[in-house]
Formats: sequence, C-alpha cells, structure tokens
Amino acid sequence: MKNKILLPTMLFSVFSVLVLSEGFTAYAKGKPSPVVPTPIPNSICIDPGHGGSEPGAINGDLIEKNVNLEVAKMLRDKLLDSGSYTVFMTRDTDVYLTNADRYNFCNLMNAEILISIHHNGSEDPGINYSTAFYMKRSDVALAQEVVNTVSSTLGLTNKGISRFASGVLLKSVMPATISEGFFLTSSAEYENIANSDRLEQEADALFVAITNYLK
Ligand SMILES: [Zn+2]
Repeated sequence: MKNKILLPTMLFSVFSVLVLSEGFTAYAKGKPSPVVPTPIPNSICIDPGHGGSEPGAINGDLIEKNVNLEVAKMLRDKLLDSGSYTVFMTRDTDVYLTNADRYNFCNLMNAEILISIHHNGSEDPGINYSTAFYMKRSDVALAQEVVNTVSSTLGLTNKGISRFASGVLLKSVMPATISEGFFLTSSAEYENIANSDRLEQEADALFVAITNYLK
C-alpha cells in the first residue's frame, strides 16, 4: 500500500466511501434495504487488477496488468478443469475497467466470492512479501485463507491482512479480497518468473485457498 502505484486506487476509494455513506443515510430515512439474491454456489468472480491504460506496477518488461491476467487465466482454467466451480472474469483481455465495472459485474453474476488479483510494487527491489486486503467483515476469512496459502506456497513472509477501502471490496455484496501475492518490483521475483513456473505456483495456491474456503 505504501507506494505510488496504489495511490489512484486509494483516491477512488475515498470517493466510494462518500457514496456509500450517502447510501446508508438514504436507508436510514426509510428506504428499503436492497435484497441481495442468493449467490450461485461454488462460483468465483476473478478480477485481474488494472488493464488497458492502467499498467499497475512495472519491473522492466514485467507489467502488473499482464501478470495479473496471466495468473487469473491459469486460476480460471484450474477451477474449470476441476469441474466443481463456476467462474466469471471481470476481464480476459487487456482492457481498462473502473472499480464500478468490476464490482457491478461480480454482483450481477451473483458470484459467491470475489478474488481480485494484484501484485505489489515498491521503490525498493529488495522488498517482497504476501499480503491480502479486506474491507467488509465478511471478507476477513477469505482474505486470511488467501494470504496464508499464497505466502506458504510461494515461501514468502506472510504480512497478513489489512483493511483497505477499495471500491471493489466496499461495493461487492459477496466476500471479497485483493490478493497481493508478491512484489512485482522484487528483483528476486523477476528471476523467479523468468526461470521457474512461479505464476503457476501462485495460481495453484489461489486454487487451494478457494477450495479450502468454499468446502
Ligand atoms: Zn495492482
């Protein structure tokens, strides 16, 4: 979170908080609460972070929007191949999406959970750890499962979960988390991605986390 790259997201989040509190005020004045439909069992809305004109973190030829999408597609294929899950993707190409595009889509699909895939960034190429964000109380168990499984699978320090007022987490009606599996700006990860199946390992970890959470 303590980097320039996430700043636009944080500004957007402040806006989202304002909009949401107006919504709460409206409900307090007597308007009925929205009815949340029953989610499709074992369905996952995968949200590859950034896209199009928004690259996210960059490390040489590694661009976060592409890495996020690559991991997301591998995760999608693992979930579909298992025959046990329904999968929705907020994007499967290099397109720009607003936070509203992302949570509106996942809400409309009635997904049971939402996983937003990101990779962290820092000015310091030596910094590398796993973390996950939550916002709603209902996000906590999912975020915890994701960061525990990803950090242990990738052999990284587990920084645990932090509360983060992302629009995607705030406005999604289902348990949701933002996974920051590792630092894309880490020189060690640059080597890992070039010389191993690092992204496949991460997709495997996310698959296991989802399986554990939904069982
Ligand atoms: Zn990101």
